Amino acid sequence: MRIGLFGGTFDPVHYGHLRLAEEARETAQLERVLFIPARVSPFRTAESRSAPEHRLEMLRLATQDNPAFEVSDIEIQRGGVSYTADTVLAIRSLYPNAELFLILGADSLRGFPYWYAPEVIARECTLLVGTRPEYDLEEALANLPEPFRARVQPVPMTPLGISATEIRARVRTGRSIRYLTPPNVIEYIIRHRLYLEP
Ligand code: ATP
Repeated sequence: MRIGLFGGTFDPVHYGHLRLAEEARETAQLERVLFIPARVSPFRTAESRSAPEHRLEMLRLATQDNPAFEVSDIEIQRGGVSYTADTVLAIRSLYPNAELFLILGADSLRGFPYWYAPEVIARECTLLVGTRPEYDLEEALANLPEPFRARVQPVPMTPLGISATEIRARVRTGRSIRYLTPPNVIEYIIRHRLYLEP
């Protein structure tokens, strides 16, 4: 089985994430893509984030119509800071024979060598890296140490300059977020009054 792991804060999930997951699925012929929201991102320990339950539920709503997409609460359940290497090893023990892929955007690839135990991640997973407007994939690849670069498979994707930060800012200032994320996610944000506070 070919399984893609897609970690992030997903606060909220948006069409940039969904397109990256879909194009990664197609490029690497993945049977399943697991969306894995971080309880606490190692890079964002000081920031306030929406409750994990909200981020999880928005992901469930956004992915429910794609049979290849699943949401995993493994990092939420584990508690503490969410390290991708721990998650990869946990998934590996569940699926010893699977071919594992880690899905990430070009901006995340830049920081990859500084993550916790990147060599463990690169040993277990092919890195499926999507382009992201304003982030140069070629430059990120050129700066990556060779053992990691050899594990990268680029995912050519429709460039979508959508970010969760921009969506939160739009909600806070009363602007439209239509067509940036699926309608059921927008309804959830409104119903639960998310992102109204800075
Ligand atoms: P924020 O604006 O809060 O930083 P984000 O929109 O970048 O959030 P994350 O949850 O941090 O979302 O991203 C998870 C993963 O998805 C990262 O690997 C990131 O590179 C990738 N990603 C996010 N948005 C896009 C996009 N528009 N195009 C391609 N990749 C994306």
